[in-house]
Amino acid sequence: MVTINHNLHISSIDAYIDPIKPVDKAIITHAHADHAKPYHKKVLASEDTINIMKLRYGDNCAEEFQILKYGEKINVNGIFISLHPAGHILGSSQILLENKGYKTLITGDYKTIKDQSSQEFCLVKSHSIITEATFGLPIFKHPNPNDEIKKLLLSLNFNNNQSHLVGCYSLGKAQRVISLLRENGYDETIYIHGACEKICSYYLYKGVKLGNLKKVDKENKKNLIGKIVIAPPSALKDKWARNIPQVKHCMASGWMTVKQRAKQKLIELPLIISDHADWNELTSTIKANCAEKVWITHGREEGLQHWCDLNKINAKALYLKGRDEED
Ligand SMILES: [Zn+2]
Repeated sequence: MVTINHNLHISSIDAYIDPIKPVDKAIITHAHADHAKPYHKKVLASEDTINIMKLRYGDNCAEEFQILKYGEKINVNGIFISLHPAGHILGSSQILLENKGYKTLITGDYKTIKDQSSQEFCLVKSHSIITEATFGLPIFKHPNPNDEIKKLLLSLNFNNNQSHLVGCYSLGKAQRVISLLRENGYDETIYIHGACEKICSYYLYKGVKLGNLKKVDKENKKNLIGKIVIAPPSALKDKWARNIPQVKHCMASGWMTVKQRAKQKLIELPLIISDHADWNELTSTIKANCAEKVWITHGREEGLQHWCDLNKINAKALYLKGRDEED
């Protein structure tokens, strides 16, 4: 039984999942900007997603918000809706729709490996699954993130006459990298770009162990030798970074697997740290989910479609518009 169409529109309740334009009813998987847009009338999402949306867009970025706890089910015109942790960033959710017993799961962005800065991914079985495919090619096998963080700590040791400027998305990746640094024993103050400040404060408030953080300002900017500085990727080459002395350019992204990308962006220390499932996680999740129908969206649809064909899994690619290439 089809509950949802190709545009992630649930016709029987006239609600959209992660709509790219303002709508009357939106169900939001997580607060990344290409999924959570402002100015919907009603928003249904996890508490963290709603709080982060408000932090980024203002308290009135939707007319009405409804929080749904993980695992809690609501009945809207006969469709049962529930949210389940996606392990992507704080508050990220998979959405399960149940229509007369038929279950459709929309994974949203997800990853299955442990991450102390996010709720842990939860496997949900369903009849149909709509999966993301950001890293849906066999070349994408993310290494252990702790090994990547150790590369950064090693570089800091050997190059203590340099400021280590690490490009990270300001929501999710920045906090994850800081959390990984703490897990790996780094307890010095970590310096952050202003764009990361509000979200870091929210993660701290939620009990994520980020340790001592300090915003980069005019005063401390010239004294960052031997320090770690976390900033959005766009800030690495802009005016903001100009006065930081002896910069070593680092970047934490799943795309750092592609050496050409690191070269193009003049990254000296690429760290392969992704908040998305890699090829093995995508394929093992599809297998474990046991769905009879797979829809593939958001990324390298063809690679995963080919794998489904080889494994005799009924799959179709959805080409959704308006999604950024996250990392
Ligand atoms: Zn995302």
